[in-house]
Amino acid sequence: MIEVVGLRKSFGNLDVLKDINIAARKGEVVGLIGPSGSGKSTLLRSLNLLSVPDAGAVRIGNQTMDFSGGRLRIRDRDLAAFRANTGMVFQNFNLFPHMNVLDNVMTGPVRVLKRPAAEVREEALALLDRVGLRDRADANPENLSGGQKQRVAIARALAMRPEVMLFDEATSALDPALVGEVLAVIRDLAAQGMTMILVTHEMAFARDVADTVIFMQDGYVVEQGSAQQVITDPQDRATQQFLAHFR
Ligand code: ATP
Ligand code: MG
Repeated sequence: MIEVVGLRKSFGNLDVLKDINIAARKGEVVGLIGPSGSGKSTLLRSLNLLSVPDAGAVRIGNQTMDFSGGRLRIRDRDLAAFRANTGMVFQNFNLFPHMNVLDNVMTGPVRVLKRPAAEVREEALALLDRVGLRDRADANPENLSGGQKQRVAIARALAMRPEVMLFDEATSALDPALVGEVLAVIRDLAAQGMTMILVTHEMAFARDVADTVIFMQDGYVVEQGSAQQVITDPQDRATQQFLAHFR
């Protein structure tokens, strides 16, 4: 379903991703953990092509993007089409401030996918229902709590019908009291079979919701395995040291 082969990314002479090889089956939930600066966000951004890798390939479903020919050989139109395979949720929500909640969810399908507004509206309302916010459809984002904003951001990403959802520390900017409501939505998506990659610092959540956990350090995948095994019985010394901070 998603396969990453030999992915590399540098910024100047800083090598941030060094030969990353990972895969997720359809419906699999992958937890991505690792210290600050290890390359987690750069990896997610590479899957979404917000950041274009220098080498390697990414396959999602039946589409493959090969970076071995270099950035200049890839057409912007192909980047945009490939980007639609993934829905990304960021730490800081990034809602459109000048649109109400419903329009935030509808704008991608209507403007980018050119789907009929009436049909998209029904689907958007159903998605807002799914994240528990149908009654806030007319609200302005600035009048929502952080947890509500993040749930709108999730509905907005889902509205594009992505193959894979990518979450980059989706709960890190939230008040502790609001973390649970967002994790509940993610848990619900997992139960419904959504393929997801979650960058998280919530180790208990990674253990409980993810099928697989990948530990990254210094641009490498150091260890990967079942969530239960990696979190509770890590084999690599670096993983052990990292997880000791959370005990
Ligand atoms: P954190 O847990 O703090 O979010 P991370 O694992 O997500 O860390 P990245 O954001 O992927 O780490 O960054 C990895 C390295 O790449 C860091 O050294 C960072 O400074 C560098 N980096 C990331 N983006 C850029 C950029 N656009 N230009 C230059 N360096 C960058
Ligand atoms: Mg990051």
